[in-house]
Amino acid sequence: MAPDFDTAARQIVEAGRWLAGCGWAPAGAGNYSVRLGDGSVAITVSGRHKGRIGLDDVMRVDLDGRSLDGKTPSAETLLHMLAYRMEPRTGAVLHTHSLPVTVLTRHLPGGALHLDGYEVMKAFGGVQTHQARVALPVFDNDQDMTALSLRIEASLASAPAYLIRGHGLYGWGADMEAASCVVEAAEFLVACELELLKLNGAGP
Ligand SMILES: [Zn+2]
Repeated sequence: MAPDFDTAARQIVEAGRWLAGCGWAPAGAGNYSVRLGDGSVAITVSGRHKGRIGLDDVMRVDLDGRSLDGKTPSAETLLHMLAYRMEPRTGAVLHTHSLPVTVLTRHLPGGALHLDGYEVMKAFGGVQTHQARVALPVFDNDQDMTALSLRIEASLASAPAYLIRGHGLYGWGADMEAASCVVEAAEFLVACELELLKLNGAGP
């Protein structure tokens, strides 16, 4: 069942402490949201360090990203709303800015990071074996969130998460626990790919 605002705000504050503790929210980056029972969304306000947010740093927006309480939402609110609109079962969205995602997406050309052979991929819905193949789409960064969300909407299929080049990762799930699992798995897998690249030599 979708949570009420107070419950969602507590989940978001806890997520901020966890993700900042992982080093995935440097310099106040990143944003987190939870879909509420009334159809609106609780999301982090703009510009606060996510490791130090409190309940007052969470606000409500509608599915178009418009403020419902006068506060100013994170700059990337439209990308959260996209995840909710594209998949009705999405209950929570987390956006991280980790070193492995930032570095690897700048190094790798192309529109996807292809993964196979990893046990941890089973954290993604529908993946039963390490022999599966999972592609995480990679989109070029853009300061125009409307343009970026249109590009993502046009090409995002059934991926469990996606990456933005030189920027970060978006993951989602049916609730905060599921979204946290997806993001932790995706970050782990990207870090593994970066380590493999270093072991094998970065190449051209
Ligand atoms: Zn970001």
